[in-house]
Amino acid sequence: MSGEPANKGVPVSGEVRTRIAPAPSGDLHVGNVRTALFSWAFARRHQGHFLLRVEDTDASRATDEAFAATQEILHWVGLDWDEGPGVGGPYAPYRQSERRAVYDGALARLEASGHAYRAYSTAEELAARKAAAVAQGAKPTPGYDGYDRDLTDAQRAAYAAAGRPYVLRFRMPAGSTTFTDLVRGEITIDHRQIPDFALTRSDGSPLYVLAAAVDDMAMRLTHIVRGEDLLAATPRQLALYEALDYPRERWPQFAHLPLIVADDGKPLSKRNGEVSLRWYRDHGFLPAAMLNYLALLGWSLAPDRELFSVEEMVAAFDLARVSRNPARFDLKKLEAINGEKIRAMAEEELGEQLRPWLQAAGYAVDPAVLRAGVPLVQSRMVRLTEAPTLLGFLLVPENEFRLVDADLLTADSEAPLQASRDALAGLPAWASDPIEQALRVALVEGLGLKPRRAFGPVRVAVTGRRISPPLFESIELLGRDRTLGRLDGALAEVRGR
Ligand code: GLU
Repeated sequence: MSGEPANKGVPVSGEVRTRIAPAPSGDLHVGNVRTALFSWAFARRHQGHFLLRVEDTDASRATDEAFAATQEILHWVGLDWDEGPGVGGPYAPYRQSERRAVYDGALARLEASGHAYRAYSTAEELAARKAAAVAQGAKPTPGYDGYDRDLTDAQRAAYAAAGRPYVLRFRMPAGSTTFTDLVRGEITIDHRQIPDFALTRSDGSPLYVLAAAVDDMAMRLTHIVRGEDLLAATPRQLALYEALDYPRERWPQFAHLPLIVADDGKPLSKRNGEVSLRWYRDHGFLPAAMLNYLALLGWSLAPDRELFSVEEMVAAFDLARVSRNPARFDLKKLEAINGEKIRAMAEEELGEQLRPWLQAAGYAVDPAVLRAGVPLVQSRMVRLTEAPTLLGFLLVPENEFRLVDADLLTADSEAPLQASRDALAGLPAWASDPIEQALRVALVEGLGLKPRRAFGPVRVAVTGRRISPPLFESIELLGRDRTLGRLDGALAEVRGR
């Protein structure tokens, strides 16, 4: 294959129709959703249509749960489709398992026109033929050898009479295919690299390469955006368009997105990273952060802009500016972007986002406490999942309060804890400034402690943890009674050892 850089912008005439076509056998992964995002953004940018087509012809893998989960995750991340399951559309159904008749019709046409043939060879027979050829000095060749291409009518009749199972294979014409990929530029593939490929399984059900090509035609798609791992399917699918007489002016254009790789340089997979979008949702990432970050895997708004909204992305998105280089998935960068999105939220909205995490951790969430607590944590959170550890101390009933980091309290803590208790017990105004003032006087000046040693034990005593929102504000929100009670508890803990 050869490639030239793609030119400036993708010229678009007429209606744009793009799609995401996941094969649901589990959760949608990062790569699927990046593809969906680019495909969606391109459609939105050109006021086109974005379709969801579910490629579930492999009955052994596709499940109803995965079908539902696919839609749930796309809804969560905010990629809405104009045609597809749940919304319908002019080319319904959009679930391939419900479109068998369409594929059977195409297969019958291909067979009748001689573009497809029945291949009866078993895997063992193929392997034996190849071994024999190699023994005679031939170079080993990958894939199917084309044996059944030229069976005589008599041979076919005999196989059929014997009830031999077969698959339909495509008779790949000689020559080569050249097309201009919107990302990778002009690509030429010599057909000698493409053995006659199977269109069906031996039970007659259609394979991906056929079903997707047939649907891309039937659904009038104009731009096929997909991962580079599917580049090999393109010349096959173009050959199918040709064989099925699909008018050239309707052929979609292709954009193959760069691979997503992990730190080890290998394609991102379960082995070297978290790939399931659900994992990110369940670990406190925001849809806005996911979309922003996934956009950066192959695209950028401008050289120095890493933070943007999805609206900004749509306004500027062009497939021609997608990179051809592998994109490295960097969890730390995603976390940083998530933190930025958290900081950019309105306090009230962040409160709404945090509430379910607090509730899931078992806290009853008092709206006033939540409202007061959000400003204390907004600038320090990277994931929503941190809410219970950061805010739990404000919500927990006193009898359930625990010194999580009790091991940080030592015999040396007794003096600062006692001094804090004394200073706060008589403090006339209960607000963060006088609280800070009183504690500094008591601990830093009075006991001569360095601030870190002075306030560390107090922090553990009142929040239970080594890491908490800002201490003096936390004490203010906690109120005098609870603060003194917790200092007493910590003192009892230290003295009782
Ligand atoms: N069903 C394929 C997949 O999930 C998508 C194929 C395509 O986009 O053409 O990888």
